Amino acid sequence: MLRLHEYRYHRPTSLGEALALLEEHGPSAMPIAGGTDLMPNMKHRLFTPAHLVALKRIPELHGIDVGEREVRIGAAETLAAIARHPLLRDRLPSLATAAGLVAGPQLRNMGTLGGNVCLDTRCTYYNQTLFWRSALGFCLKKDGDVCHVTKVGKKCVAAHSADTPPVLITLGATLDLVSPRGERSVPVADFFVADGVRNTVREPDEIVVAVRIPVPPPTTHTAFQKLRQRGSIDFPLLNVALAVDLDEGDVVRDLRLVVSALGARPRVVAGLDKIAVGRRLDDDVVDAVARRAFDQCHPLTNITVDPEWRRAMVPVHVRRALLAARTPAPAAP
Ligand SMILES: Cc1cc2nc3c(=O)[nH]c(=O)nc-3n(C[C@H](O)[C@H](O)[C@H](O)COP(=O)(O)OP(=O)(O)OC[C@H]3O[C@@H](n4cnc5c(N)ncnc54)[C@H](O)[C@@H]3O)c2cc1C
Repeated sequence: MLRLHEYRYHRPTSLGEALALLEEHGPSAMPIAGGTDLMPNMKHRLFTPAHLVALKRIPELHGIDVGEREVRIGAAETLAAIARHPLLRDRLPSLATAAGLVAGPQLRNMGTLGGNVCLDTRCTYYNQTLFWRSALGFCLKKDGDVCHVTKVGKKCVAAHSADTPPVLITLGATLDLVSPRGERSVPVADFFVADGVRNTVREPDEIVVAVRIPVPPPTTHTAFQKLRQRGSIDFPLLNVALAVDLDEGDVVRDLRLVVSALGARPRVVAGLDKIAVGRRLDDDVVDAVARRAFDQCHPLTNITVDPEWRRAMVPVHVRRALLAARTPAPAAP
């Protein structure tokens, strides 16, 4: 049995109280929302905070407000609430779909949007028990100085493994953060960095309060695709989010495509304006976009599954996302 270390669990009921706790206890404190990722990681001794600051009782972190132009979702809202929300399924179907495909039902009932955005990166050589990791000699991400994936280099390549951030990037969403130093807003596209050790610009004492998402025009079609071993529960081996704005003749006005779960940050596929914008979204354009995504994605052995196969699946899922966007896909149950 994997046991937890000793720690104090604080349950603040206001944002001010939570920030004061994070400030008081400094690096020995961590925020916790649903705990669906942090708790297993604590059992594996990947994190051993002396203080946990629970976020779920803080009113500012709750609420799903769907306005005409913008949707605001409190960071402590659960993935289950997002997946089943009728207005979100109508206005932001790719987000509702992605939330509904995270893990399994119990984890979605506890897991939150904020926790998903702040999810730790994952790697075959990291998400293991202390005993397993010590036998191997640890790794760059935790307690060691070597990357067992690349064998060379000093850059951690653990994979960003959250399902909602790629969607949030395609939708142009922004995160509202607060720390003892004040408030700031960061576009989700700028939130992630290519370092598997810490792959976000969030400071340890910063709390994500809410996610704000502009409501796309009715001419924008969105889609989300996910590859995983067991459809009922697993983390993504690969995920694809897409937002495409089409005119009446299916001519592409704008196309945003993000592929993730491969490296430390979600990859925005570049150069699509040259091969798709101004052209009808026919099979040739779909193939060209799928090929472009394949060319830009280079999975590593950071997950147990064969990286060549994961790479071969990139164009398959990009094609599916584009076809789903051409004929709007139903939201996840
Ligand atoms: C078996 C299993 C399968 C899973 N499958 C998937 C999957 O398919 N896709 C996927 O995306 N995830 C998956 N997960 C991971 C996890 O369940 C989800 O990512 C969930 O959304 C995490 O949210 P949480 O509220 O539980 O986060 P927590 O575990 O509470 O926190 C995660 C991290 O975020 C920080 N944090 C949480 N909220 C905030 C906030 N508001 N501000 C600042 N920091 C914050 C915490 O300090 C911690 O570092 C899986 C987990 C398990 C155990």
